[in-house]
Amino acid sequence: MKERFTGNFTQQEAIPDEGIKAALDVLNHGRLHRYNVAEGEVSHTALLEQEFAALMGSKYALAVSSGGYAIATALRAVGVAPGDRVLTNAFTLAPVPGAIASVGATPEFVEVTEALTIDLDHLAKILASDDTPKVLLLSHMRGHICDMDRLMQICDAAGVKVIEDCAHTMGARWNGILSGRHGVMAAYSTQTYKHANSGEGGLLISDDPDLMARAIILSGSYMLYERHLAGPPPEAFEKIKYITPNISGRMDNLRAAILRPQLAKIDTQCAAWNARYRAVEEGLRNTPGLTVIERPEAEDYVMSSFQFLLLDWHEDAVANVIVRCADRGVELKWFGGAEPQGFTSRYDSWRYADTPVLPKTDRILEAVLDLRLPLTLSIDDCKLIARIIRDEVAISFHEK
Ligand SMILES: *Cc1c(COP(=O)(O)O)cnc(C)c1O
Repeated sequence: MKERFTGNFTQQEAIPDEGIKAALDVLNHGRLHRYNVAEGEVSHTALLEQEFAALMGSKYALAVSSGGYAIATALRAVGVAPGDRVLTNAFTLAPVPGAIASVGATPEFVEVTEALTIDLDHLAKILASDDTPKVLLLSHMRGHICDMDRLMQICDAAGVKVIEDCAHTMGARWNGILSGRHGVMAAYSTQTYKHANSGEGGLLISDDPDLMARAIILSGSYMLYERHLAGPPPEAFEKIKYITPNISGRMDNLRAAILRPQLAKIDTQCAAWNARYRAVEEGLRNTPGLTVIERPEAEDYVMSSFQFLLLDWHEDAVANVIVRCADRGVELKWFGGAEPQGFTSRYDSWRYADTPVLPKTDRILEAVLDLRLPLTLSIDDCKLIARIIRDEVAISFHEK
């Protein structure tokens, strides 16, 4: 009898009790809008921002309606205008090029390496041959962090501003520095499948008072920006308050109430995710035909999903592995599939953008398989999942 996995890859943990209680209080008093406060009250949203800034060691933080909105707001705040080109890595999720398109700019894709991170040689080459791109939207896709020291060197030398998409790296570090603390701004998502769960939601951090003042007004603060505990001083707003449009995308107090207790225990959550990641990694090591992604020593990752490569396999053989694993209850997502499915899609399906030929990226995308690791999976579940993948990869590898 072949082992089968019968668990669920999309079931998150319950919201912590304190979060449920705080949410019920908000529902009972009815002041859900972040600026709707009683005399002397500070809103959950303002407190969340203050706590998130402290957690990230940033001067400022802003809570908004989604991760994609946070990215678009960062692009607007740094001055990306219609017609501009914005560099971004070709292996990412649709909301990233989407945020670039939402401000009328065009994504320019940079190749990806076998480490699933941006190809810094390709980035350096693009910047050496063309000095128009002024912004890099760096997506730490699926939690893989590139050599941030070298990336910042390349971008600083070329005068390129870096915005970090930390949707999968909340709490992760490179050489001891938190992901999101290298660029001028960093965006996070609190959508259900990320590291904190408010259904939908996003956070933005920065140390730059002018950028954050713009972001706060952009997010829909009206002239109530003084109610932000993690915002810059009033002078920063004076300069821009008449020339910055209000593009509403605020977070509300219900979501903030749910998030605060989750962020308070983010370190334990991160450790729990990594324990699951390592169990799968251990189980898949030394499987013939399968490449485990080696993580650099400088990287302290937080992995709520697992990726591996079936490099240079025929696409039918990869498809065969997916079907066989699915038959045994293991859901693998394929970023290289020809047709976008579910949350996976590849850069050449974003046809509103220029889609260059990226041979390195094509080879990786055809090979990369992805597995979600929600915290409701036990370590034994993870070991079982790895055994099933290992078996099926071995069978397909021999048939291939
Ligand atoms: C989820 C995600 C986003 C966007 O977050 P939303 O809150 O869903 O808008 C951006 N980038 C990456 C890499 C993501 O996975």
